[in-house]
Formats: sequence, structure tokens, C-alpha cells
Amino acid sequence: MLACSSVYRAVAQEPAAEGSAVNQDLEHLIVLQAQDLELARLRGELAEAPRRVKAAEAALASAENALANCRQRLAAEDKLRRGHESEIATHRSKLERLRRSLDGATSAQQVTAFEHEIAFAESGISKLEDEELASLERTETLEAEQMAAVAALDRARMALTNEQESAVALKASHDATIAGVERERAELRAQIAPQWLSSYDRLAKSRGTAVAEAIGSATAGKCAACQMGVRPQRWQDLISREHESEIFSCESCGRLLFWDPRRDTPRPWAPGERLQAAQAGPGRPSSGSGSRR
Ligand SMILES: [Zn+2]
Repeated sequence: MLACSSVYRAVAQEPAAEGSAVNQDLEHLIVLQAQDLELARLRGELAEAPRRVKAAEAALASAENALANCRQRLAAEDKLRRGHESEIATHRSKLERLRRSLDGATSAQQVTAFEHEIAFAESGISKLEDEELASLERTETLEAEQMAAVAALDRARMALTNEQESAVALKASHDATIAGVERERAELRAQIAPQWLSSYDRLAKSRGTAVAEAIGSATAGKCAACQMGVRPQRWQDLISREHESEIFSCESCGRLLFWDPRRDTPRPWAPGERLQAAQAGPGRPSSGSGSRR
């Protein structure tokens, strides 16, 4: 017998209570399918974790690039201003020379020529000073950008660390859970008749799921997986209490159909309840299995 602590404990190997029986193999297959879907979910999350780490690494690289680009532009503005300053100094020393020459000018023609050169040097200086001011304004904007880029880089580093840590934690916990489900799954498969097991494996491989619920009324119904109707005579056989030992398959998709007897009653199954009942064992819809050994 399987361990009682097991989440996916298979139904007990004991005669089912009268009137509530579903084929034992089918009960096991329903639980097996839940285990397989859970394994697929866990493995999907495991595969997703390295992709999340990669995305965080890419985000970090792009934050580093943004900061480097910002620093490069700041350095370029600095260089530009140093160039302007040295040009201004050259113009100023030329201006001094020109003014001295102007003082010693001997003709009206010379005065006009020096004045013209002085005006030219002064306008050159004023243009360079305007450009320097514009560069300072750009630098101010860039410094704000740089601060934001540093903060973004910090956030990207932290996000990567988080993703790396949660990937490690997820792997540890999922590996353990997967090993547990695999163990229960192997025990459960050992209890299922080989022909149903091979049908299940074939269907699960080709269609994703092998077991489907039959849904409908007392007179007509369909396969919940492929939505195709079940022929009336087959439907009667499926829901009849005289055919509990048989497993019917959907004529359209081939999945193995299960019908919940409780669907006929005033209180049908709530979502997930059917599976819980299968896990708890036949005849005991609520848990309370602690007393049994
Ligand atoms: Zn179907």
C-alpha cells in the first residue's frame, strides 16, 4: 500500500462502496493524469528559471551600456569646453596685442584696420562663450541622466541577484517535489492493468491528455476534451451503473472517458473535487483517511 502522506496517493485497493464505483483502473488513470500534468508544470517552471536569469543578465548589460554611453557624452562635452577655453585665451591675447597696436596707430587707415580686427576677435570670443554655455546646459541634463542610469544599474544588479537566487531555490524545491511525484507515479503505474497503461501512454503522447470527463445529462452528452457528442447508445452504456467495470473511449479523440455518478445528483462535483475524491479513495469523498493502515 502507498504511503498515507502522499499528495497523489492512489485509491486504496479495496472494494468500492456500492453505487459509487468507477472502474479502478480508470480511477488510477485519473490520478496518473493529474500527476503527469503536475510534473509538466514543475518541469516547465524549472525550464523557465534559466530564461529569466538570462533576461536579467541582458537587462544588466543594457543598463551598463546606457551608463557608459552617458559618461562618454559627458567626457565629450568636457573636452569640447576645454577646446573653447583655449581658443578664447588665444583670441584674448590677440586682442591685447591689437589694442596696443591701435594705441600706436599713426593713420586713420591703420585705426580702421585694427578696429576691424578687434571687432572680429571680440565676436569670436562671444560666439565661443555662447557655445560653452550651451555645453554646460547639455552637461547638466547629462548629469541627471547619469544619476538615473546609476540607479537603473543598481536595480538591474539587484534583479539579477534575485533571479539567480530564486532559480537556485526553485531548482532545489522542484527537484525534490518532482522526485516525490515520480516515486508516487511509479507506484501508481504498477497498479494499473498494462493494456490501459499503454493506451494512456499512447494518448498522452499524441494528445497531451489521455483521460477526459464525459459531461452531459441523462439523455445526451459529450467529451469534455474534444467537445464531440457521444452516440446515444454509448452514452447510456457510459452512464449506466451496469457498465462500471468497463472503460469507454471517446469515438472522436480516443481519450478514455469517465463519468461522475454524482453528476446525476442534486449536488454535482465542484471543480477539482472529483480528483480529490479519487486521491482520497472510493467511498470517502472527504479526507479522514488517518485511521486506516
Ligand atoms: Zn473526445
